[in-house]
Amino acid sequence: MEECTLERVKEKVYDLRGRCVVVTGSSRGIGRATAILFALHGADVVVNYAGSAEKAGEAVREVEKAGSRAIAVKADVTRAEEVRELFRRAYEEFGRIDVLVNNAGISVPRKLLELEEEVWDKVIAVNLKGQFLCAREAARYMLEQKQGKIVNIASVAGLYGGGLGVHYAASKAGVIGLTKALARELAPYVQVNSISPGPTRTELMKTLSEEDWRRVLSQIPLGRVAEPEDIATAVVHLVRCTEYINGQNIVVDGGRILAPTT
Ligand code: NAP
Repeated sequence: MEECTLERVKEKVYDLRGRCVVVTGSSRGIGRATAILFALHGADVVVNYAGSAEKAGEAVREVEKAGSRAIAVKADVTRAEEVRELFRRAYEEFGRIDVLVNNAGISVPRKLLELEEEVWDKVIAVNLKGQFLCAREAARYMLEQKQGKIVNIASVAGLYGGGLGVHYAASKAGVIGLTKALARELAPYVQVNSISPGPTRTELMKTLSEEDWRRVLSQIPLGRVAEPEDIATAVVHLVRCTEYINGQNIVVDGGRILAPTT
């Protein structure tokens, strides 16, 4: 790593132009907002998706409208071969891989006694194994370049449990542990951190009723629930503006975890 001077900080470090960012699960929701915000900062973007080709195409067009280059690559993050191909395509197109945002995730809400083993396996596979497979593949390129940043999307559920079920909470607690171990192992060349969003208005939370949202809202000191752009802002900030934060989990929930108050 280069020496950190304020002049360099001001002029160069945080310039994302010409950088290649891979955002898994960026056909919609938090991933899509993150991909577009990276593009608005000049980065080239790989939009990954599992099934929504049309939405991924729309995200690519939004990135291009922002003035950056983009490709959409279909790859199921639970499949090692497809993940390998995702990064091969990214490298082929842009010649480097600077940033991985491990964002792809699912929720299949269940109470414990109704939680089928297959649902447990599926949620752990997408939310946790997927991040391992993508980090392993990205690390091959980043270690070769001696530079890279990985941001894993965890959740406040990984810290405090939550309404989506034990399987979801366990997968996200796993992401926080994965992040810390990766941060140690990939240092000093790759910085690895996680972001834990609070409830954010996306399709993943479509099972929440308006009444649930009102209850959540009443617990948030900032007085509004998160939009995908709020989480994207934190991810891009972490990548653009920090070089010395490593192995940390940053909660982005409007201060909800501060509740309850007297
Ligand atoms: P979302 O709107 O449902 O989007 C999920 C994205 O993941 C889609 O692009 C989807 O692609 C992709 N995806 C799903 N399974 C995949 C697979 N096997 N391989 C590749 N891509 C896959 O969800 P979101 O709310 O934006 O969630 C993004 C991340 O934030 C997740 O990790 C989630 O756990 C986390 N999070 C969300 C909230 C929240 O309140 N929304 C809170 C905390 C954490 P297709 O469209 O092609 O299926």
